[in-house]
Amino acid sequence: MDVGLAAFDMDGTLTQGRLVFALAERFGLAEKVREIQASRVEGHLQTKTIAALFSGITKTDLENAVESIPLTKNAERTVAILKEKKCRVGIISDSYTVAAEILMTRLGMDFVAANLLEILDGRLTGRVEMPLGWEKIGCFCKISVCKRYHLEEQARRFGIPIERTMAVGDTKSDICMVQRAGVGVSFMPKDDMIAKASNNVVQIPDMLRVLEFAA
Ligand SMILES: [Zn+2]
Repeated sequence: MDVGLAAFDMDGTLTQGRLVFALAERFGLAEKVREIQASRVEGHLQTKTIAALFSGITKTDLENAVESIPLTKNAERTVAILKEKKCRVGIISDSYTVAAEILMTRLGMDFVAANLLEILDGRLTGRVEMPLGWEKIGCFCKISVCKRYHLEEQARRFGIPIERTMAVGDTKSDICMVQRAGVGVSFMPKDDMIAKASNNVVQIPDMLRVLEFAA
């Protein structure tokens, strides 16, 4: 399989932590965030409620939280190798653009799809612009960023057939893109659902391992 476009989840996949928790812990909101995520409410509505909790936090605090999260081993090298092969590489995340864009620039990637936190006068307003997409294609995920929809969008944008795409993720929010991609990879799966979503599973915390499936 000659992969022409690779989409990575961010939290827990390209990075070793989750931005939403790094941020919540700094402001004593971790318990509240966990409660919201454990609820049965649809994913996109959870994202809205969590963003509202962050109202008033400064852009600098947000950027510091981003910088505190370490990259997964060999994430940079993996992206560089894919780029050398003329592969388009990007992030599809249900976290926030502020983090995904910092990472995109650092790793020299081509695209990002993520939630946009509204910032006014240097502070989060508590509002969030969600790219969604599931409502357009009837995807089951109903989360703030339907990763399948955005994988298809980026493949179309760069003229890469879906059979030549790779998607890498670690939680159930990644299932719809991992199943849709030509090569779907469950990287260090955090739940049963994503572990079963693909035959390609990486259980070693080294991003270079995903290239075995992209060769
Ligand atoms: Zn979806």
